[in-house]
Amino acid sequence: MSRPIVTMAERRRTRQIRIGGVPIGGDAPVSVQSMTTTKTADVEGTLVQIYALAAAGADIVRCTCNEEEAAEGLAHIVPRSPVPIVADIHFHHEMALAALEAGVQGLRLNPGNLRKEAEIKQVAAEARDRSVPVRIGVNAGSLHPDLYRRFGGATPEALVESARMELALFEEVGFDDVKISVKASSVPLMIAAYRLASETFDHPLHLGVTEAGPPPAGLVKATAGIATLLAEGIGDTIRFSLTADPVEEARAGRQLLEALGLRERKGLDLIACPSCGRAEIDVIGVAAAAQAALEERNLPLQVAVMGCVVNGPGEAREADLGIAAGRHRGHLFIKGKIVRVVPEAEMVAALVDEAERLVAEGVEARLAAADAGAEAEAEADRRSLFEAKGADANRTGERIEGIRRKVRGDGEDGDSPAGVR
Ligand code: SF4
Repeated sequence: MSRPIVTMAERRRTRQIRIGGVPIGGDAPVSVQSMTTTKTADVEGTLVQIYALAAAGADIVRCTCNEEEAAEGLAHIVPRSPVPIVADIHFHHEMALAALEAGVQGLRLNPGNLRKEAEIKQVAAEARDRSVPVRIGVNAGSLHPDLYRRFGGATPEALVESARMELALFEEVGFDDVKISVKASSVPLMIAAYRLASETFDHPLHLGVTEAGPPPAGLVKATAGIATLLAEGIGDTIRFSLTADPVEEARAGRQLLEALGLRERKGLDLIACPSCGRAEIDVIGVAAAAQAALEERNLPLQVAVMGCVVNGPGEAREADLGIAAGRHRGHLFIKGKIVRVVPEAEMVAALVDEAERLVAEGVEARLAAADAGAEAEAEADRRSLFEAKGADANRTGERIEGIRRKVRGDGEDGDSPAGVR
């Protein structure tokens, strides 16, 4: 067993709240949130999406509550949802009251567009009486105009001040069952705002880069912001705000937490070599086929697809399972140990078959069931490939020699000295 590598700062301790059965903050695992794109009044359509989001890794789902029909939809959705539901409120405080009446487990209020103190306090008092937590969801794009003027723009200080002012109103009615977000579409602004929020509040923080846009750029931006903060120990719950099917958001959130070692692996982690001159197969094609087949089965494994048998099994020895190609055959390995050699055409099928057995029977049992002679057969393939291609499969040495000849002015281009052409 390899020792875990510690690369993350210790998580900053926040107070804990609960959205339904999901704890947020304190020592709770970082949770994943996403938001439905259906009309909330469409109960069946919204529930289908909520189930898909939960299956992709969402712990909590947010639905808009922008009209009476949406609130009525929530009354039907909440009891049938597999995960807690948060109602997203903008502009209309009566929609927050209606969502509470519908039984939601959380509210999100935007201080930038729900501004009347009496209304804010009314919602906070109602949430207090029903023990429903509220997210103070500040957004750089909809910052209160007074704060915009006072701070000369949507600065980190302005975003945090907006949250502080809202929190002060809540506290006037004895309510602080709160989490806070200070989102921006600019990654540097968002990072600075959350760092400041983390120093200012001990409430849990919900991280996100708002309006990150469509993938892949949206994924990169959201990951850059959220992962940077998580690595600093900041953040208790996250959302990827992508212009895409929300299932992609939930999946990305979950995958990020798994990649950072903040959540246990629930699904597949496919690693594949980038391919090079040694590759014996179409690595991209085989990796894509393996990913599709393994994802369908949702097996919680790290699986490697490597382009050649010379370096592949060694480079991917930490993977639970992998396959490397060589001499029209695939070397199937578990934790770096060769267990079977299969024809190239059967590589993906053999990988999937072994993955299912590995999950069902465990590593020790599958290593014990390794084909006798597989290791020796694989070693023979490795040797013959190494001899055929040598240590310089990418012809780097040959190319360097060519460069030197050019610089010296040797060879067929003539004999003129370097630097005079
Ligand atoms: S050496 Fe082999 S495993 Fe490594 S990148 Fe090249 S083909 Fe892939």
